[in-house]
Amino acid sequence: MGKVRSETIMHWDGSMSTREPSPMLPRIPDNDDLILYDYEYNASLIPPVSAAHKGMWRYSALLPLDDQEVRYPLFVGNTPLIAPDPLRQLTQLPRLWLKDETRTPTGSNKDRATALVLEYALRNKIGVVSCASTGNVAVSLAVGAAASGIKAVNFVPAHVSESKLRIMQLAGATVFKVEGGYECAFAFSRKAARLLGWGDRNTGVNPLTLEAKKTVALEIWEQLGWRVPDVLVVPVGDGITMSAMVKGFRELKACGVTERLPRIIGVQAEYCQPLKEAWERGEVALQRRYQSSARTIADGIAVDAPIGAALALHDIQESKGAFVAVSDDDTLHAISILARYAGVLAEPAAASTFACLKPALASGLITPDDEVVLYITGSGLKQPQYLAPERPSSHLVHDFAEVERILSSF
Ligand SMILES: *Cc1c(COP(=O)(O)O)cnc(C)c1O
Repeated sequence: MGKVRSETIMHWDGSMSTREPSPMLPRIPDNDDLILYDYEYNASLIPPVSAAHKGMWRYSALLPLDDQEVRYPLFVGNTPLIAPDPLRQLTQLPRLWLKDETRTPTGSNKDRATALVLEYALRNKIGVVSCASTGNVAVSLAVGAAASGIKAVNFVPAHVSESKLRIMQLAGATVFKVEGGYECAFAFSRKAARLLGWGDRNTGVNPLTLEAKKTVALEIWEQLGWRVPDVLVVPVGDGITMSAMVKGFRELKACGVTERLPRIIGVQAEYCQPLKEAWERGEVALQRRYQSSARTIADGIAVDAPIGAALALHDIQESKGAFVAVSDDDTLHAISILARYAGVLAEPAAASTFACLKPALASGLITPDDEVVLYITGSGLKQPQYLAPERPSSHLVHDFAEVERILSSF
């Protein structure tokens, strides 16, 4: 049916020739060859259209949407759950998975929330949507709004990542850089939306953001073959990404298809760990004002006053999980490990999930038999300055003899 007819070769000039097929290996064609198949008007070579092409919208029965056709134009959801063998061997965790959210329109999990908020805006003829953001929400809103014909207004900390800022501007968003940091940007954004009647995409205050982000839990369960993992590692800033995950698994339970929640490990940055500290003090809400003077490279989780603090502390407890904090150095190392052993290019906040494995294994939060999913929330391609090779290797050559000389000691 679909097997390669390796004996038939078509050359670029249109001539055909045949070769002996190898009984052992499929023949690798020369660069002027094409691989041909037994087409024969055989429609069964084309896979059926499945619901997967709808991305996150295939869970619309668990989203606050009526059954109108979805208008949002960008593809969101159905990101891969991958099991890189080199990473499993390196970590000695044979049941380790990465939920790879780097492959979304703007390379972060924020695209799910943006999609649902803008779908709502399109249906309700809302022409301007605004947000406050440490970077990824604003990038996501700028790009999603551009594709939807909606105006985006972003409030970001003045020290926002330069490369993320450029993408917002590239997509035509109006950007306010706010001196007082993310907390202040949040207050300005909410006030502007209220005064001017804009759509408010702010995480935690617009319930659609949590609803959309929970779809990732449904995907993980489905991709594992309708199974809940033992442990889920999630980076935590405002806490909504993590609480949305818990809500997703809680709803699977409520639907009667699962029986338990995974243990959730919430990862924070050492330089900014208000929830981890509150957790250790046994608080159920943030009691004291946290101010991190130092700045972590993990901007996606650099939040001093998490909007979802109370919910996050509750959800971690309900899941029988814990908070772990990781250093920037360990996060940088994790970025290079994920690139070299998994082929995944992660930004700092996302790579912090890998950095947390070592302390979590050491303290018994994770055991080697556990099925563990790391939520890789954002792509490193937006912040290439952190894609720093630990052992740089490249060779400038002038002729092939030099290539041979270098390869002789390979
Ligand atoms: C936003 C973000 C997070 C954390 O999400 P919260 O809902 O703020 O907790 C983690 N990683 C990345 C890459 C993010 O952009």
